[in-house]
Amino acid sequence: MNVWIRKARKRATCSYESCKSKDILNGQYLVVTQWVMAVREGRKWYKEKLYHPQCWIDQAVAELEQRPVVETRGYGKRMAITDKDREQRVRVLRKRAAIVQRVKTACLERKFALIERLTGQLERCKEEIEQYGGVPAKW
Ligand SMILES: [Zn+2]
Repeated sequence: MNVWIRKARKRATCSYESCKSKDILNGQYLVVTQWVMAVREGRKWYKEKLYHPQCWIDQAVAELEQRPVVETRGYGKRMAITDKDREQRVRVLRKRAAIVQRVKTACLERKFALIERLTGQLERCKEEIEQYGGVPAKW
């Protein structure tokens, strides 16, 4: 959706339902929202809505307040393990990351014996991390 602000060049109507005056007079500022409604024969058809600047903010705030914020960043809740265990867990995570990096290099250099040895180390990482909050799903 495109949104911009400009001066009205003719009388317009505010799209906010709770707007008191509805009329946007010539020369007043207005917010234009525009989005592609359909594409026909390679031509884009736009739909437009106009708002008073303050009405645009009001409806946006009202809209946002109706949507509960759900945190999607990170892996969610912290694990229920002690700080000491978490330290150990991070240590194993780092060790595995280092091994994975070495595997990638070994793959490029086609050192198959080394890859086999490193893969064994990766398996041992799994066993090691088991006691510090379990094996991560991505492993
Ligand atoms: Zn309005």
